[in-house]
Amino acid sequence: MNDHDSTMEHKRNVLVTGGSKGIGAAIVEQFIKEGDMVWYLSRSQSEHESRWISIAAEHTGNVKHVPCDMADNHSIEQALDTVMAEASWIDVLVNNAGITRDGLIMRMKDEAWDEVLQVNLKAMFITCRKISRVMASRRSGSIINMSSIVGITGNGGQTNYAASKAGIIGFSKSLARELASRSVRVNIVAPGFIKTSMTDILSEQIQDSLRENIPLGRIGTPEEVAKAVLFLASGDASYITGQVIAVDGGMAM
Ligand code: NAP
Repeated sequence: MNDHDSTMEHKRNVLVTGGSKGIGAAIVEQFIKEGDMVWYLSRSQSEHESRWISIAAEHTGNVKHVPCDMADNHSIEQALDTVMAEASWIDVLVNNAGITRDGLIMRMKDEAWDEVLQVNLKAMFITCRKISRVMASRRSGSIINMSSIVGITGNGGQTNYAASKAGIIGFSKSLARELASRSVRVNIVAPGFIKTSMTDILSEQIQDSLRENIPLGRIGTPEEVAKAVLFLASGDASYITGQVIAVDGGMAM
C-alpha cells in the first residue's frame, strides 16, 4: 500500500479476486482510476503494480495485493481476514478468479473436475459468505460474480468449467434474493471470448472459429468487461440485482 493511504480519503473499499492479470487486472485498474481502495487476491503479484501505484496516486485511489490460493480454503479465509483487519467494511466485491482444465468427459480426471469447481465456485461461496455478513450489517454493498456465456450455452470439452459457471449464475441469483432486503445487490457478468492468457492458449484454428460466431466480428478486451463491472458496482445500477449481463459481442443472444 502507498504512504499516501493514511492521509487521503478513498471513495470505496473494493475487493477483487484474481486481480493479477487479464480481466481481473483491468477491473482493478478501473476501480483505482475511480479513486477507490482496491485489495486484490491472487497467487502472484501483478506485473502492473508499479504502474497502478502511480495511477492510484493521481486519483486518490490505492491498491494492495493479498497473496491467496483459491484452491486452498484456509488460504482464502486467511486472505479475507487480512483484508478485513485493514478494511473494516467492503463496498464492492468482485469474484473474478477462474481457471479452465478442458477435456472431453470420457478422459476427464477427477482432479480436473475438482480443481475447476473449487477455484471457480467454492472459493466464491467462501468469499461471499464472509463479505455478505459485512455488507448485510451495513445494509449496503454490491457483489459482482464472473460467470461466462459457456455457463448459459454449454461448450464441448468444458463440462467442468460450464458446470462451475452455470453454478455461479444459480448461486448469485439465490444470493441476490437473500441479500436484497439488506440493500445488497448481487449481479453476474458473463463474458464471451475475451483476449487474455486464458484464451491465448487456444489454437489459431479454434480462435478463428470462435471469432466467426461473434456478431460484432472481433474478440473482446478485458477493459470492455471491466466497464460492465464498474457500472454494476455504481449507483447508476441501484435498481439492478440478480441479473446476468453478457459482454460477448452478441455471441450468446
Ligand atoms: P486469466 O488471465 O488466466 O486470469 C485469471 C486470474 O485468476 C488471475 O489473476 C489468476 O491469478 C487468478 N487465479 C487463477 N487461479 C487462482 C488461484 N488458485 N488462486 C488465486 N487466484 C487465482 O483469466 P481471465 O481470462 O482474465 O479470466 C478471468 C475470469 O473471467 C475467470 O473467472 C474466467 O472464467 C472468466 N471468463 C473469461 C473469459 C475469456 O474469454 N477470457 C470468458 C468468459 C469468462 P494468479 O495466477 O496470480 O493466481
